[in-house]
Amino acid sequence: MHILSKSTYIKGLQCEKALYMFKKHPYLRDHISIEQRAKFQRGTDVGVLAHACFPGGVDMTPAFPAHFPKKAEETRQNLSNPDVNVMYEAVFQYNDTLIMLDMLVRDGDRWIAIEVKSSMALSTTYYNDSALQYYVLHGCGVPLSDFRLMYINGDYVRHGEINVKQLFKFESVLDYVKEHESRVAQNVERLKGVVALPHSPIINIGTQCHSPYTCDFIGHCWKLIPKDSYLYTTAIDDRHLFEYYFDGINSNKKMLMISDPNSLEARQIEALQSGSYYIDYKKLYTIAPLPRPKSVGFLNLLIHRPAVPELEGTRPYQELILAFALQGDHEEGGCFVWHCFDDHSRWRDSIPLLVEKLSHYAQIVCFTPQNLSTTLLRHEIIQNKEVGHKVFNLFDVLQQCDFYHPKIKKGFTLQHLCEALFPDIATFEHSKILMEALSQELTSYQQAEEDLLIENQIVEKTYQKFFNTCAVDK
Ligand code: SF4
Repeated sequence: MHILSKSTYIKGLQCEKALYMFKKHPYLRDHISIEQRAKFQRGTDVGVLAHACFPGGVDMTPAFPAHFPKKAEETRQNLSNPDVNVMYEAVFQYNDTLIMLDMLVRDGDRWIAIEVKSSMALSTTYYNDSALQYYVLHGCGVPLSDFRLMYINGDYVRHGEINVKQLFKFESVLDYVKEHESRVAQNVERLKGVVALPHSPIINIGTQCHSPYTCDFIGHCWKLIPKDSYLYTTAIDDRHLFEYYFDGINSNKKMLMISDPNSLEARQIEALQSGSYYIDYKKLYTIAPLPRPKSVGFLNLLIHRPAVPELEGTRPYQELILAFALQGDHEEGGCFVWHCFDDHSRWRDSIPLLVEKLSHYAQIVCFTPQNLSTTLLRHEIIQNKEVGHKVFNLFDVLQQCDFYHPKIKKGFTLQHLCEALFPDIATFEHSKILMEALSQELTSYQQAEEDLLIENQIVEKTYQKFFNTCAVDK
């Protein structure tokens, strides 16, 4: 059996302890978010679609992990079989390291290795995992004429059926992977040594816990860090926080001794110690809408960005408005939900409806990491600057007011904001609504509608908490 794979190698590059824990104590992993699961699924779907660029290949995917050795042997035999010109998920093992290559395409008496990525840009991690694959292929004696990354072409516009040849573009990384082969060999030996250790390597928490990916073992490794530790503050970046930590500043008391009492860091530590949140009320009063708007609408948009364009005339990752929930006095019963879950081609119907509905409100409150004004402008929902000023995005506004709570260290999302301000309300990831909307089941559609409204209620409660009073007090 193999010791390393592409994913465990990448994990080991981030942190040797993460690799060891994954191999020896996988039950200690944190819960995987809906968004992460959706990303894995998207990668698989795009990989399968990419096969159409090189049709007629033999799929080497093993039905069970126990079949890896058998598939590796079949892959080896196929290399010398003149009837096999393309292999999908070809399995190779060298020096206890197993890889499954997305595509291997015959090129005369050599082969072209192709790794598919579902994004529109290439990152260091992609180059690193290609280098590992090249190391294994070379070790297995596969004669390569090229190693290419195949990724999404952002300029592609769908007309009719998907044209896979235009949807993807290629970048040769052969020079890169050859140049890095000896370094990969050293890494492989080092990481195999880590897995063979009789106990977990002693590695302190640090910046590697969140970079380049959020580690799966944070729940385990960080459990001895007090919940009110300054390591959960956000005023200072992680690199500097950990520099202080490793320099012996290992308590809030010591951190406060070296911090300016008026600094944001000191205020965040005070909030942590009091089990509350921090917000700069001076800034809040400056930003608060005055006079108090006569009518406020709370808007929650559900936007879908399919990697592979679903609809005629759309590009990869182009945003489609799948649904919106609007709450306010102008809606019958106080709320309105529109969606096109059953037929995404109707998504443009949302635009005139939003224009009409939003025009009744003096202010439109939302919480979104996107620039909602830009999104609405892009869809011509807000056509002039005057109307554009109606949008009051709590995501931007609260950050401008230095809002802080330890929950938001994991990301400034509505879910974490709700956990911080209204711990009694059950929360969920926003991605859950998108999953419900894409499920093609009526009950999930109903759940998605309800969840859009629940999110809107959290936005309304947050707005009332901070802005109703200050608009009066001002
Ligand atoms: S939480 Fe941090 S220290 Fe622990 S395994 Fe992950 S990266 Fe390593």
